[in-house]
Parts: sequence; C-alpha cells; structure tokens
Amino acid sequence: MSFEVRERDLLARIGRLKTKSGTVETPLLFPVINPAIQPIPPRRIREEFGFEALITNAYILKRRFQNQPAEKGLHNFLDFKGVIMTDSGAYQILVYGDVEITPEEIVDYQERIDTDIATILDWPTGWRVSRRYAEQTVNETLKRAAELFKVKKREDILWVGPVQGGRYLDLVAWSASEMAKLPFDIHALGSPTEVMENYRFDILVDMLLTAKMNLPIERPFHLFGAGHPFMFSLAVALGCDFFDSAAYAIYARENRYMTETGTVRLEELEFFPCACPKCSDKNPKEVAELPQKERQAFIAEHNLYACSAEIKRIKQAIKEGRLWEHLEFRAHGHPALLQALKKLKKYEGFLEKHSPTVKRSGLFFFDSVGLVRPEVVRHRIRLSERYAPPKEAEILILMPQTRTKPYHRSEEYKMLVKMLREFPEGHLQRLHVCFYEAPFGVIPLELDEVYPLSQHETAMPLDKETVAYVASQVADFINRSNYRAVLLLHNVEDWGEEVLKACKKVCVAKGIAFRSFKMGRKWVKSLPNFLRKKAFRLGDRS
Ligand SMILES: [Zn+2]
Repeated sequence: MSFEVRERDLLARIGRLKTKSGTVETPLLFPVINPAIQPIPPRRIREEFGFEALITNAYILKRRFQNQPAEKGLHNFLDFKGVIMTDSGAYQILVYGDVEITPEEIVDYQERIDTDIATILDWPTGWRVSRRYAEQTVNETLKRAAELFKVKKREDILWVGPVQGGRYLDLVAWSASEMAKLPFDIHALGSPTEVMENYRFDILVDMLLTAKMNLPIERPFHLFGAGHPFMFSLAVALGCDFFDSAAYAIYARENRYMTETGTVRLEELEFFPCACPKCSDKNPKEVAELPQKERQAFIAEHNLYACSAEIKRIKQAIKEGRLWEHLEFRAHGHPALLQALKKLKKYEGFLEKHSPTVKRSGLFFFDSVGLVRPEVVRHRIRLSERYAPPKEAEILILMPQTRTKPYHRSEEYKMLVKMLREFPEGHLQRLHVCFYEAPFGVIPLELDEVYPLSQHETAMPLDKETVAYVASQVADFINRSNYRAVLLLHNVEDWGEEVLKACKKVCVAKGIAFRSFKMGRKWVKSLPNFLRKKAFRLGDRS
C-alpha cells in the first residue's frame, strides 16, 4: 500500500492512495451503495458524478446475494470500475445487537468477492453504554484485529482497523495505541454515528483527535458515517482522509435537500440554491410534483453533487492554505459546529505540531475563535522558547498595531524613528521596539517581516477574549525579558485599558519603570523628554 501526501493544511491532506483497482485522491467520499435499494446506479456515480470509489456492505451482500458477488467479482456485480470498499456488518451489530456471521467468515468473504478495501468485523462501542461494556467492545475488537493477520490470505487488499471506545476517551486512546501496533493500511473511527446524529460535533472532536493522537499520523484515516457536506471540512481538517455517505440517498427518501451549510425540506424551497445539472434544469415546485421515485432520484443526485462540490471546495482550500477560513465559514452555519471549533483549544498543541509552517496565503482573523490557529500558537511557542531581545536593549517601547504592514513601514513607526534621531546613535541600541497586535500578541520589530506576522488581516474592534489574549502575551513577554523600563504607546480606542493594566501590573511586580503615552500628537514630544530623564540618561545628539 502506498499513501502519498501531496498537500497539507491543518491535519488535512490531499493524498494519493494506491489500491489494486486504481489510485484515488483524498480527501475522498465513498457514496454508500445498497445494491438492494439503490436510487442511482454505481456506474453513473462514477461516470457522471466523478466518484472514483464507493462503499458497500459485505454483510448485507452475503445475506442477500450469497455467492453471486464472489462468482462475478464485486466490480462486475455492482457494475463499477473504480475502487470498492466494504464495511463488515459492524453497523448492523450496533443497530440489531448481533449479526449471524463470524469474524473469520467475513474476512474470507471480503477476500473472495475481491473488494479493494476491507473492514474487520469490529464490535462497535455505541453511545449510551456502560464503561464495562465499552471495555468489552474494545477488547473484542482488538482480539479480532490481531486475528485478521493470522487468517487473511491475500496481500493485495487494504484492511481497515477501526478504533472503538465511544465516549470513554481513555479507552479510545488505548484502542488506538493498540491498533497502531498492527500493520493495518487504514484506520477508522468506529461508532460515531449517534454522536453525529445528535450534532455533538464537539464530542466528535474529542473522539477523533484522541484517536489521531494515538495512531501513526501518516496512515490514512476513515470516518464512518460522516454523510453531510456541512461537516466535511471539520472532519478533513482533523485528519480524516475518507468518509462514507449514505445520507445522500436516505435524506432523498424524506425530501431532504442538502446544502453546504445544512438541510432544507423540498417544500420549504422557493428557489434551488445550487447550480448543479439537476437544479439548473428544474425549480422546486416542478420537482415536488414529480412521481415519488423520480423525485427521490432527483434529490439523491443533487445531494451527491452537493457533497462533491464541498469536497472540491475543501481541496482547493487545502491547496491555498485557507482551510481554517473555510472551517470558520462552515462553523458559522451551525452553532453545533462552532462549538466543535471552540473545542479545538484543548488540542491546539497537537494541531500546531502537525500543521505546515509555510503557506501560500495570509490569514484572516475574525475573532477569538481564530486564536487556536496553528500560526498563532506557533508564534507564541517560538517567541517564548527561541526568542531573546537584543542584548543591549534596556527599554522596551511597545507600539500598537497599525493598518500598514509590515509595521515598520507605518506612519506611526516613522514618527518614532524621526523623534529618536535626536538621540546619539550609541544610545539608541538601548531601546527596543515591539508591536502589540492581534492575533499574534507581541511582534518584535526585527521579526515583523517574517511570515505570517505581516500577512494577516484583522477585524477591529477586537472582541474581549482577543484583547485579553494579547494583554496576557504582552505581560508574559515583559515578565521573561530583562528590560529596565517599559514605555507603552497606548491606543485606548482599539484596546481599552486591558493591555495598559497588564503591563503596569507586571512592571510593578518586577520593580521596573513603566510609563504610558496616549497615541495622538503629544507623545512625540513627551516620550523624548521622558527618555532624557535621569533614570534613562539618553543624551541629545550634539
Ligand atoms: Zn443541485
């Protein structure tokens, strides 16, 4: 098996997975095919809709069609030339309690029907279960996982090792770290369906990232049952390379029309907010009047187009390095998604560690949700661990962010430089200028051209949490440096009193001089006078 990563952003990746029936590009959605009730033939799903892979259920195939798929070969049986993945019946265990098949039988069956990607018969933890039961499901799944490598005969099929544990995150961690020891080609998060059905995307974040943190990060990862385009970007950003969707067809049965931000009932639509070939051709009223079967096929096809369009947007966002922005747009489509995004604070270190450092694009900072962005976290870590102010610097001058970037090109900074020309050159080394700004906190003058410190746009005025974050960053910076004095250029309009208070407090605690100057015309005169004072002894150039 080879999985080659071409582009990355956050934990997302555009990659290429080689299977015996061809190479597919990730992130990839596998439409779920139920040969018994299939509104769109598999061949059309590939030829018209461009889906290179699909997933079907080996357990259902075996029950309904016995040896037929094995005799014909699964690709001929389904009339699908792309890549086929099979699930094992684990979902049926979750719904019906048990299946009439053994783990060995389902391994053997998947090999015989010639699937490309196969899944062991794991034991799904489910949701409202006791810890004891959850432990049992993890144990049993691990036992079956180990067993696979003793019973499987073929080497050309990729095997999926699902991680169980449900809402017990320590069990998820344990399950993942044990699964990681086995030579699976792909991993998956098991039993997240109920979590997603209940819109608990914040819990999904916990489950997903706990699994990812305990698995080899380079192995591809599948999220079972993630069928709605409005949450694709969250799943992809957290490192899901594949997902499967039955929702496109199930929703269609109930006249539910997917959009990239949610679901609308056909009856509620006056206009189709979509330009897919289906929606371009008809209006909602005409579709509502179609016979039931045709209407269902229409909506299923639109739903597939909606899924496909969102995957393409996500891939383009990865390529441009703007997946975070895309994620924020989607998160503002539903409170449950925003709640999930806020949960990322807990995992900001892991996200930072595995996100690319250099990108093609700058950042858009909207509000404090963006403070967990890897770029922001990275700057904070690097500034505290790798940065020291120039040796001669005794006096810190803190200037607020300006509209002009890099900041050293701003009018305000030029005024400061002009004013400082009054002092002898040797004395200037004792001064050190830093900017305080959102979202990065403190930017020393000499770093202000380093990516992305001048490649970002920030919405002003800032929210309270962002101001508090910057204030704490300024205080930490002063606290760990050896300045004798701090001079703050204070912009009340943008920053209120918070940064001022934080500076004052840390200076008092350290016993160093502090003085603030209000931005405006006056500071240009009062600051030099202050610098000339005895304590600073900056002499005039003469
Ligand atoms: Zn459409």
